[in-house]
Amino acid sequence: MNAAFNSKSDDTPRTLSEPTLDERLEIAARVSAAHFEVMLDHIAYLPPEGQNLVHQAWQYADKAHTNQWRSSGDPYITHPIAVTTICAHWKLDASALMAALLHDAMEDCGITKQDLAAKFGPVVADLVDGLTKLDKLHFNTREENQAESFRKMLLAMAKDIRVILIKLADRTHNMRTMGDMPRSKWGRIASETLEIYAPIAHRLGLNQTYRELQDLSFRHLRPWRYETLQKALTKSRARRRDLVQRVQQDIDAEFDRLSMPIRIAGRENTLYSVYQKMLRHHLSFAQVTDIYGFRIIVPTTTDCYTTLGVLHQMYKPVPGKFKDHIAIAKSNGYQSLHTTLVGPSGVSIEFQIRTEAMHIVAEAGIAAHWLYKAQGGQDTLNTKWLQSLLDIQTETNDATEFWDNVKVDLFPDSIYVFTPKSKIMAMTRGATVIDFAYAIHSNVGHHAVSSFINGEPASLRTELKSGDVVQIVTDENANPNPVWLGFVKTGRARSKIRNYLKTAAHSESMVLGETLLTQALREEGIAAIPDNEEANQALWAEVLLKAKSKSREDLLTDIGMGHQAAGWVARHFMAQLVSQGQRPNAVLLSQERFSSAGKISQSTVVLDGSNNSSVRYAPCCRPVPGDPVMAYLGRGDGLQVHHAQCVNAKRLQATDSERLVPVEWAEDGNQKLYDSGVSVTIHNQKGVLARVATELSNANVDIRRLEMDDEAAMQTMELRFILSVHDQQHLEAALRALRRITTVVRANRILPTE
Ligand code: MN
Repeated sequence: MNAAFNSKSDDTPRTLSEPTLDERLEIAARVSAAHFEVMLDHIAYLPPEGQNLVHQAWQYADKAHTNQWRSSGDPYITHPIAVTTICAHWKLDASALMAALLHDAMEDCGITKQDLAAKFGPVVADLVDGLTKLDKLHFNTREENQAESFRKMLLAMAKDIRVILIKLADRTHNMRTMGDMPRSKWGRIASETLEIYAPIAHRLGLNQTYRELQDLSFRHLRPWRYETLQKALTKSRARRRDLVQRVQQDIDAEFDRLSMPIRIAGRENTLYSVYQKMLRHHLSFAQVTDIYGFRIIVPTTTDCYTTLGVLHQMYKPVPGKFKDHIAIAKSNGYQSLHTTLVGPSGVSIEFQIRTEAMHIVAEAGIAAHWLYKAQGGQDTLNTKWLQSLLDIQTETNDATEFWDNVKVDLFPDSIYVFTPKSKIMAMTRGATVIDFAYAIHSNVGHHAVSSFINGEPASLRTELKSGDVVQIVTDENANPNPVWLGFVKTGRARSKIRNYLKTAAHSESMVLGETLLTQALREEGIAAIPDNEEANQALWAEVLLKAKSKSREDLLTDIGMGHQAAGWVARHFMAQLVSQGQRPNAVLLSQERFSSAGKISQSTVVLDGSNNSSVRYAPCCRPVPGDPVMAYLGRGDGLQVHHAQCVNAKRLQATDSERLVPVEWAEDGNQKLYDSGVSVTIHNQKGVLARVATELSNANVDIRRLEMDDEAAMQTMELRFILSVHDQQHLEAALRALRRITTVVRANRILPTE
């Protein structure tokens, strides 16, 4: 017996270095060859070239696992051979069998996917790679209600159904040999098998495997309970032997008389299902009656119903127990007629009636697809499910595509990813890191700056794949970027981002409006915006009515967005105050006049790069800190900042000076970055662009965008960059660096002047 498990902590083959190593290795080689020899009988269905490939894969795996051993002391290679034998029972193709032989080679023997691809081709390499990835997933049983998601994720992750089948074979063999493992490991592995792998086998219709995995799990989870039940079952089996034989003989005789060829076999429920029934219905073992039954296989679907009729004439049916799973197949393809009859001495016995094709699907489910192919695929199929599988198969002839088609029926369009704490999140296919961040919490989304996927740095727009472990890096000071709206996939993220931007733009505009109104009021001789105190309520009501604004906040926001002119509002305030008998402050007025001649007034808008949605830097001249600037309050789109020399700025100054707003750069050298346009003319030589990029990088300047003329034949060409710089000095340094390159003819800032 050999045993090991596929979780990395306990599955890693042990290396024994005892003095008798040479002898041990020699014995191992003979054991390996003997096991492979036995397996050869099971792969006789493959064409000779397929058998030959499997042989090569065995030699390769044998060498890779040299001096690795199972817990039982057997050479490690006996495990892959056993897994391959299980796959051979499903009649899987040569590629799948090769992958089964190699399934632990990548993880444990330092062999890469490239090695496998070079030796056995991309299909086998992909299968082994897929298996290795599944191996890395561990189900955390402490997380409640996650089993279903975990199962779906496993299935969704596998690009090829063969990966799942090999994985189930692997798990089956490990469960069969669990006895060799330390008892302390039984619980975790058995419950993972029970919660994850057995249901997957069931979902795919692999009922035989499903029952075996359940029973083996039960046996190792509750060893004592299992043993007790097993003893009880053995006793009861002996008691029922006569009855079972009598029924079988009677049925055989009756169908012989009718000249109907049938195959009848006794069947017994698994201990696990008996145990479940006892738990569910609070029964003792003796009270569970339907442990034994019969399965009857007949040639055609019509024969199924005829057989049912014959049985109902022989024995009395138990009312309410008849089920027609032929007319309405189960979702995993299972078809049969079920009926329970009252047999001799009043014992009720369940019968399952089905055709050969239905039987293969009932036992092997999706693997029936290969089983049928191996049998030569006659067209006597009368199960719709299998037929539809075969239709897909003849249309595609490609296991990957086949699985994709099956998957469409099995799952909605979802992927499953993990948080760093192993919580599983279901996401829409195509979801990005940002979608994931918002799925966790809006605050995580709002402050996300970068991420790690499976420990590797990844951008926020990276599309997620099933099985990814995603960690979001947040920064309290970071805010949602409008660019995100261009790539998010989920409605939740989209609406959260939109909402945030709307609110942010609103509050920024309000702050700007406050500055602008203060400034305009001062020019009228009013020191500040009148407050909301009771004394000013009539004043505000009058102004709001004139401005058609609902509230003080609305009015300020409107001013900030350019919907309402600050000067106009200020003049209304003035008019109201005058009508109330107040005089403008003469001192303030003279101060204002003085300050506008030179000094910057208190109400100037300060550009510090943070107020990004109400302040825009004009794309024509792209001003940076240090540049002389002017700002224009557009109608409805906030403040636009131009370089003072920009031709557009000058035109606005001439035509629309009413809407100009004084601005200044923040004094402290903030670390924000600004876009600036640069034009570089180069001699068209090989490698010159790389040189330019290197120089810019040396000057610590990022390239945000590059445009160039598509005229490769020209002697010189113009490159237009948008560079990311801190200020004018930074930009000048970059230009100097560019000019030093010999192939650069000139490098200038893009600034439209007259
Ligand atoms: Mn394995």
